[in-house]
Amino acid sequence: MTERWTEIGTGVFVRRHTSLDLNIGVVICEGGVLVIDTRASHVQAAEMVESLRAITKLPVRWVINTHHHWDHTFGNQMFPEAAIWGHERCAEAMRTHGEAMRAQVKAMAPDYAAILDAVVITPPAFTFSTTATLTFGGTTVEMRYLGRGHTDNDIAISLPERDVLFAGDLIEEGAPPSFNDSFPMEWPDTVAALVPLSGGVVVPGHGATVDAGFVNRQLDELQIIARLARERFADGISPSAAAEMSGPYTPEVLATAFARAWRQLETS
Ligand SMILES: [Zn+2]
Repeated sequence: MTERWTEIGTGVFVRRHTSLDLNIGVVICEGGVLVIDTRASHVQAAEMVESLRAITKLPVRWVINTHHHWDHTFGNQMFPEAAIWGHERCAEAMRTHGEAMRAQVKAMAPDYAAILDAVVITPPAFTFSTTATLTFGGTTVEMRYLGRGHTDNDIAISLPERDVLFAGDLIEEGAPPSFNDSFPMEWPDTVAALVPLSGGVVVPGHGATVDAGFVNRQLDELQIIARLARERFADGISPSAAAEMSGPYTPEVLATAFARAWRQLETS
């Protein structure tokens, strides 16, 4: 895959990376650039910033993290001059679980241990709880927390003037949604709230850009997951046994989804 900036709206670009199939968004505003997510390390972030020079000479003045996960935030330190925004629990999770994430990624990718050790975990300094509408260099940017789903701090970022929605990992293309830190019983409602914002181009956290049809299909799958979880939990089936039964994803993915769903069902 060639990594290049693709213009998906006026002055709005996406770069899809081979590494982790991760998307980074860029919005060219007056007097500066907004970057959405920062890749998985300062080294990857530096490479991405360097590549930006092909499309703009303006400085990066704003950053938004879609959620706290390392693959979206471990490049934050490369933007000391920028105002970094995120949900209040994104900042909190980076403060409290940042080191645990670092340890987890190092265990997963020991070849990158030295790079990961040099990551300065940099939580967003600017946070909000439900919505924030901001004007970055004349461009209106709406940030919305729509409920728990892929994590407890995913936000949707819409650019109403440019007909683009950045959905973060609430929507995933090219792979099943990631359930590790998820709230499967609430995720469908959160994506349902995303649908009215999905009229233009929708950028998922990973994979190809999509549209409202794709968002609706993923909503259907998430609704099936929640329904199957409710039924099988009520029948006294264990999450691992439930994952071997039918479902919209592989048994491995279902096992994670149902383990998280049972946690929610046991405490509700
Ligand atoms: Zn991700």
